[in-house]
Amino acid sequence: MTEPGPLLGGVELGGTKCVCLIGTGPEDIRAQVALPTGNDPDVTLGRIEEVLRNGQSQHGSFRALGIASFGPVDLARHSPTYGSITSTCKPGWSNTPVAARLRQAFNVPVGFDTDVNGAALAEGRWGAARDLDDFAYVTVGTGVGVGLVVNGALVHGFGHPELGHIRLARKSGDHWPGACAFHGDCVEGLASGVAIVVRTGVPAHQIAADNPAWGLVTHALAQLLHTLVLATAPRRILVGGGVIEARPALLAKIRRQLLASLNDYLDLERLAGSIDRYVVPPGLAALAGPLGALALAADAA
Ligand code: ZN
Repeated sequence: MTEPGPLLGGVELGGTKCVCLIGTGPEDIRAQVALPTGNDPDVTLGRIEEVLRNGQSQHGSFRALGIASFGPVDLARHSPTYGSITSTCKPGWSNTPVAARLRQAFNVPVGFDTDVNGAALAEGRWGAARDLDDFAYVTVGTGVGVGLVVNGALVHGFGHPELGHIRLARKSGDHWPGACAFHGDCVEGLASGVAIVVRTGVPAHQIAADNPAWGLVTHALAQLLHTLVLATAPRRILVGGGVIEARPALLAKIRRQLLASLNDYLDLERLAGSIDRYVVPPGLAALAGPLGALALAADAA
């Protein structure tokens, strides 16, 4: 059990809704308020400020604030637009300096990162990757995102990794062009919720468990995990998101296909333990996103 830390504020800023939290961690959430993310960032950020101020007046001042945001975002520390949403397709939100505005409003240290990276940090602090210095968090929902923790820190180069868009070896006989607007048959173009709808005509949760479409989805995800295993030798890989939550049995298929794809090149079980405990669901479920914002706040504090 983690020692209770300072009181923290968090904002998970999603494309359709945002969640404001005040607390110290998953066992101690003092306030949690969801708001719609409107098309006017000034109005939405104003409402977030109001909710957080109300929370502070009831529960006390928070020591730091974390923001886990939809993207794309500027994460380059020395950039003049660090902490902004950049060229998003969400109307009205391009070039919105989210972190700067909330830092000015609350005058506390502000942690800022993507929603996926925030969730990865939260899983490392409180969830299924607790106390691991090297792990990957894969979320398969509308898109495919990967938060990558290496040597105890999220990987940041000029921004954040975009492993959902790597290219794959296709499953033999499958020539569908894929649904990614940029790459066609990258991982996201084959395995995201959007790709599944484009390919089958129905949402993931309506597709029967024995539909062959799932074999193509898990093949793509197992290839992504193959790359993760070889690139950074993660000690565990968490696989979640709406598509996987709707069909948890996919994890067993992904494990089998990962081992088949690695083809005994590594003795994964000896190096990292049983495959059932290597590829696992996230531990924080739907709270991973909002707790990601608190984890970013904890790091900033
Ligand atoms: Zn792509």
